[in-house]
Amino acid sequence: LSTSAEAVAEPIKPSISIGLTNLLINGKFVEAASGKTFPTIDPRTEEVIAHVAEGDVEDVNRAVKAARKAFDHGPWPKMTPYQRSKILLKFADKVEEHADELATLESLDSGKPYEQSRHIEVPGVARLFRYYAGWADKIHGLTMPADGAYAVQTLHEPIGVAGQIIPWNFPLLMFTWKVGPALACGNTIVLKTAEQTPLSALLVGKLLHEAGLPEGVLNIVSGFGPTAGAAIASHMDIDKLAFTGSTEVGKIVSQAAAASNLKPVTLELGGKSPFIITEDSDIDHAVELSHFALFFNQGQCCCAGSRTFVHESIYDEFLEKAKARALRRVVGDPFQKGVEQGPQVSDEQFDKVMGYIKIGQEEGARLLTGGERFGSKGYYIKPTIFADVQDGMTISKEEIFGPVQSITKYKKLSEVIERANASPYGLAAGVFTKNLDTANTLSRALRVGTVWINCFDVFDAAIPFGGYKMSGHGREKGVYSLNNYLQVKAVVTPIRDPAW
Ligand code: NAD
Repeated sequence: LSTSAEAVAEPIKPSISIGLTNLLINGKFVEAASGKTFPTIDPRTEEVIAHVAEGDVEDVNRAVKAARKAFDHGPWPKMTPYQRSKILLKFADKVEEHADELATLESLDSGKPYEQSRHIEVPGVARLFRYYAGWADKIHGLTMPADGAYAVQTLHEPIGVAGQIIPWNFPLLMFTWKVGPALACGNTIVLKTAEQTPLSALLVGKLLHEAGLPEGVLNIVSGFGPTAGAAIASHMDIDKLAFTGSTEVGKIVSQAAAASNLKPVTLELGGKSPFIITEDSDIDHAVELSHFALFFNQGQCCCAGSRTFVHESIYDEFLEKAKARALRRVVGDPFQKGVEQGPQVSDEQFDKVMGYIKIGQEEGARLLTGGERFGSKGYYIKPTIFADVQDGMTISKEEIFGPVQSITKYKKLSEVIERANASPYGLAAGVFTKNLDTANTLSRALRVGTVWINCFDVFDAAIPFGGYKMSGHGREKGVYSLNNYLQVKAVVTPIRDPAW
């Protein structure tokens, strides 16, 4: 296995032909109304993989019309929950049958290692859909006593047409986190994929229809944010908006949702997650876990452990070992076995990350390793570490979204709590310690949506995920996600039984 530039210079040709490039509207793959297309790029070669139909306002209108009809006239919301559940289960089986194809598309479009797509992402899709298939027939309201002679019940009903906008860093999983619970609850959907990674969702959409999803229930519009995305956020006939992406765009879509029909919004936004390593830690293990917390998925995780806080008593040894681990990280063609890190998703992201590396150096952070591109072609960046990072530095405050670890030292627990919380973000945190009291204190003191103790990036279907502060609101996955896609209706009837 090579970690040299040659591994990048001769990209492996995956055996796949790109069959689906059109929009999925009302159960059919159709061209954009304008006839326009946009290229999706292979981040390994910087060459065009395929030209994809470019959805715009008119296509969103067509998709909403189909979704509206499928919701208002059925059959989807009127099917029994068990019937819906069976379709979702059948779809999960199909995902497993097409696992190689799905993983290939995912890696080709996004640059993530094929082994990751095949063994984490694709099984995650099947697992999550099975989880929500299990919920479909367990969604029910309550009965409650009321003052006076009234029978009171609540009905938990689907909210209607859900608009969903997803990013490029986990195209399949972001699709799944949104579509799974929405369908289980009986909603219909208009979803926009990210313009960098439109391909895998189209195959998934086809498989859902093959599994029996009625036409119009799931509509997929590929296209750009300010056009197709904005049309979804501001649409008067969309009843709910779920968005994952940057905090900046989260604010834009929230405003559009409010200014149009006040549709409720759930947001999964950016992060700047602390990873805290205490003095009692096994250093080798801590190095490995903090390395994974930051570098997984080319550093393109909203919850990446991007501020590594190390206790001063182990700081120097930690730095030496973290550097050695980064140097051992295998960078190369994502289709090559054993590769841990592929290219960044796009030229724009590559430039953004390289820009932050430059700023880090200019502001005086100590560059331990990396800091430059890897190879001569493709959007590859060498695993990079900055040491002695100060809290006021730009790289400590802003989301880099790339393979750049920032390490800083701390003395006291109270100090690290304050510094970890001193961020407008609050998505996640990692804690590495053997001390139960420290673990308990930190898990309660940190103002974030997830605290991983002695682990990181554990994304089970049942575990809710979402942010405090400017990392968003609402939770995805688990039972909590159902709330995003349900209305609660109170039904009150007088009890008029004179004999009782
Ligand atoms: P982005 O906000 O630019 O794009 C996300 C999606 O929004 C894309 O589909 C894009 O086309 C669309 N969009 C862009 N402008 C829009 C507009 N004006 N109206 C409607 N839609 C618009 O983000 P990105 O750079 O593609 O993704 C990276 C960001 O996403 C990071 O900040 C990351 O932290 C965040 N993210 C968060 C989570 C989470 O679960 N919290 C998960 C993945 C990514």
